[in-house]
Amino acid sequence: MLESAQNLIRTIGERMGYEKSKIEQFIAPEMAFEFSIPLEKEDGTTEVLTGYRIQHNSSRGPYKGGIRFHQDTSREEVQALAILMSIKTAVANIPMGGGKGGVRVNPKKLTQSELKQLSKRFAAKLAHVIGEDIDIPAPDVNTNATIMQWMLEEYEKIHGKKEPAAFTGKSVSNGGSLGRTEATGYGGVIALQELLHKLQPNKQSKVTVAIQGFGNVGYYFAKAAVCEGHTVVAVSDSKGAITGNGSDNGLDIPLVHECKKKQGSVCDSTKGKTISNDDLLELPVDVLVPAALENVIHEKNMEKIQAKIIVEMANGPTTEAARQYLISKGVLILPDVLANAGGVIVSYLEWVQGKQGIWWTQADVINRLNEIMRASFEDIWSHSKKQSVDLTTAAFEVAIQRLLSPK
Ligand code: NAD
Repeated sequence: MLESAQNLIRTIGERMGYEKSKIEQFIAPEMAFEFSIPLEKEDGTTEVLTGYRIQHNSSRGPYKGGIRFHQDTSREEVQALAILMSIKTAVANIPMGGGKGGVRVNPKKLTQSELKQLSKRFAAKLAHVIGEDIDIPAPDVNTNATIMQWMLEEYEKIHGKKEPAAFTGKSVSNGGSLGRTEATGYGGVIALQELLHKLQPNKQSKVTVAIQGFGNVGYYFAKAAVCEGHTVVAVSDSKGAITGNGSDNGLDIPLVHECKKKQGSVCDSTKGKTISNDDLLELPVDVLVPAALENVIHEKNMEKIQAKIIVEMANGPTTEAARQYLISKGVLILPDVLANAGGVIVSYLEWVQGKQGIWWTQADVINRLNEIMRASFEDIWSHSKKQSVDLTTAAFEVAIQRLLSPK
């Protein structure tokens, strides 16, 4: 993952005419922290865990990026994700840089009090190198608003002052932003609407959509897509996939959501029909939305993809070989660094509110998200037309230009 992120930046940077040394300087993280976290377990033993925070680039503003707790987390993974955060914040054109953090641990094996101790010790280790103007962590895989609150409490205790903007992704009752939960899914639909408008400016296009993953991102994407008049014909989760079998094959998204809450997997108590997860990716739909895992569109299934548009809501859902193949077949790929930027954009809006001590309504937040997403889509789209490159290349070129030669 690290190598492929670095190589993509090297290839694009060199083609854009940047000197090799300048590109290598950009690729290397500005700061990298790797540290031990002794965790006193309830059974009386002590486990020594490894934590990471990579501060990749701050040329546009404080480092911004999540903290993940996962048994496979490594220095290389965190560094790759930090680089991609620098690209994403630059694509969104918000005044922030890129960072990422993590602990190599299986949080499902920890008790609630061990998880709290881990979160506080992680924050204590970093307390003097993060902060609202330096580096602002957020939730990521297996971390959430409660964990951000524990980290913030520890950070504020060490510094002896309130500083709510030092962490984002907090619960609304603890200084989080309205609209954050919906932001990534809604942001993806804002980008899709812009794309459809470019393709058919004089028509309100209505499309069929299949969504892999019905978690936070997939659900809110589906909800917003239906609000725009589109038909969501299939959704899936780790346990399976369903498609509608009514006259238009459309699913009743609120019903599927209710049903999943009750039964623990996607279902539709009135008319859903079960299909396999692989079938979902290969359906004859207008728009395919991978919103679950990385590398799900690859060399073995790329020839079976029938969608004309792919909206990458998960991070890195398309392998490089599949991306090249699909682009050669005329498939439009809305890249992850643009399509799923809604989350980091509303994190930025949470930070702005926290610094000012002013709290906006949900409508205010969504309006601002809309403005920022539309502006960044326009930048990437016009660059791709001007330079005759695909949207992924355009997004990286715009970001690299903003990061390496700021105006
Ligand atoms: P989530 O945990 O809420 O949901 C993930 C969904 O994917 C679940 O429904 C899960 O059952 C499903 N899933 C897992 N394995 C699957 C499989 N093999 N086939 C089909 N579905 C499967 O996570 P999320 O927050 O919705 O994030 C989804 C993706 O979007 C991740 O790649 C994440 O990194 C990315 N992302 C999320 C945000 C955000 O704000 N939440 C922001 C940017 C990117």
